[in-house]
Amino acid sequence: MRAPFPPNEAERLDALRAYAILDTLPEQIYDDVIYLASQICETPIALVSLVDDSRQWFKAKVGLEVGETPRDQAFCAHAILTPTDLMVVPDTQQDARFAENPLVTAAPHIRFYAGAPLVTSRGSGLGTLCVIDRVPRQLTDRQQEALRALSRQVMAHLELRKALIEIAQHAVAQEQYQQQLEAYQHELEEANARLEQQTMTDSLTGLMSRHAFERALETELDRVARYSIPLSLAIVDVDHFKSYNDTFGHPEGDVVLLRIASVLAASSRASDVVARIGGEEFAIILPNTTASNAFVLADRFRRAVEKVPWERRPMTVSVGVTTHTGNTATRAAIMQRADKALYASKEAGRNRVTHGDRPD
Ligand code: GH3
Ligand code: MG
Ligand code: MG
Repeated sequence: MRAPFPPNEAERLDALRAYAILDTLPEQIYDDVIYLASQICETPIALVSLVDDSRQWFKAKVGLEVGETPRDQAFCAHAILTPTDLMVVPDTQQDARFAENPLVTAAPHIRFYAGAPLVTSRGSGLGTLCVIDRVPRQLTDRQQEALRALSRQVMAHLELRKALIEIAQHAVAQEQYQQQLEAYQHELEEANARLEQQTMTDSLTGLMSRHAFERALETELDRVARYSIPLSLAIVDVDHFKSYNDTFGHPEGDVVLLRIASVLAASSRASDVVARIGGEEFAIILPNTTASNAFVLADRFRRAVEKVPWERRPMTVSVGVTTHTGNTATRAAIMQRADKALYASKEAGRNRVTHGDRPD
């Protein structure tokens, strides 16, 4: 007689799969348990049997050659219908459920069966720890109790196995999460680098931005402190630019800024750093340049702008210069000195260069 499916068959199969035990290699711990079961119950056959959807598969076996049998013939398929009870069949030939079973009528000629279900915490019977004999038998109360105890041992090892699998899966998930985090981090760094690159360049003129200029000035100041070489700075401001904008419009003003930017870049030396540091204000770092050389160079910038064949009206710039030789000045102090010199150029009538420090 075929055993019906338990009412929770789908859940039971899911639970069984979660232990990832089917079709695994023999393990000593389960072999030990069936050895003890067969010794205690004095049977030639003992099994750890798991009831899969269409077969019963033996995780451990003694006294039996086959590794699995069809579920239709499985005694254990009956045993898991009452997961809390030990199923004992004293004589299979006297039991209508099993008398015609091929495992009874032919090899291995089962006459006696006792199975202690392997039960999950949710009450699903996964299979049994069972003992089998070829003659009709009974188990003493102590043997039955021992069989139950051993089936709980099997279940405890299955639970341990599942916990280890879950820990390993968590570790893998953790690793993937970590990798994803690192990928995001990498993307973020690249985006930052792009952003940084954008902020380093002035979008209108293509010159260095104020941000980049400040960094460059810091770098040059470090060099001055270390090697005691002079450093000069020129700040260039367009004269009467507001009125130019007001008269010809903002886009025309932009054209002037672009032109001045390219004139300054063309008039500078390779080692000079040209930046746009404000609306109509430029700065040129002149590394390794004495005060008198700086004055000459600054005046070259001024004249270069003046000499541009301006179409609408003459454009000029005023320049403030400062030179630094010691190792104490800060970026802010140098900027302030150059600004002060620039202001002096404006005050004196524009289109001129003022050196804020005494020429050397
Ligand atoms: P001064 O000779 O004293 O320097 O007078 P100024 O008119 O040049 O100086 P002011 O600071 O009064 O005006 C600067 C003008 O520069 C005002 C502003 O509209 C203009 N400006 C600032 N940035 C830009 C820009 O990107 N494009 C254009 N077209 N104009 C700008
Ligand atoms: Mg200005
Ligand atoms: Mg101006």
